[in-house]
Amino acid sequence: MGLFSQAAFYTTVNHLKDLPQHGGREVAFVGRSNAGKSSAINTLANHVRLAYTSKTPGRTQHLNYFSLGDNNFLVDLPGYGYAKVPPDVQRHWEQLLGEYLQTREELAGLHILLTKSDKLSRQQATLTLNRIKSHLAEHFPQCTVQLFSSLKKIGMEEAEGVISGWFTAEQNSKL
Ligand code: GDP
Repeated sequence: MGLFSQAAFYTTVNHLKDLPQHGGREVAFVGRSNAGKSSAINTLANHVRLAYTSKTPGRTQHLNYFSLGDNNFLVDLPGYGYAKVPPDVQRHWEQLLGEYLQTREELAGLHILLTKSDKLSRQQATLTLNRIKSHLAEHFPQCTVQLFSSLKKIGMEEAEGVISGWFTAEQNSKL
């Protein structure tokens, strides 16, 4: 069975002090609003509406947790870059995100998905991917990147492989 086949909404958190004490591992998704993050989570989880839970009014600024079973979790971080939000709301997001990313011990990884890759020709997509790969190799060698399209179902297996590798590596290192 696929890593995401048991995916289910778990909880919503608005303050770091309320992060769940699940004792397992989590992988986070972050992106500008409209980047295709919810679609990517839904595509990976094969649920049409799963991550849109995060878009219901009142939840857009929160961290939304999805349980994958075996004490593994996906965390949908608040989309950033809404031009219209008031500065104090923007500050709240930045603080929440920054602190979560820097301090959350359960966080196993972040993986760069170049979403909506169907909008580029194959050649443009490969060029973009290679350009980003060489930038990462120079500045952020621990990061990996791939093409992804929810629309055309491109890159699902690769993403699932990377994410499940993190969960498995973590479980093995705890044995
Ligand atoms: P989020 O704000 O990052 O969660 O973005 P959404 O997942 O809600 O997607 C924003 C818009 O981009 C929607 O209109 C989607 O239909 C569209 N979109 C999402 N994924 C893809 C994709 O793979 N290809 C294309 N062409 N459009 C996409």
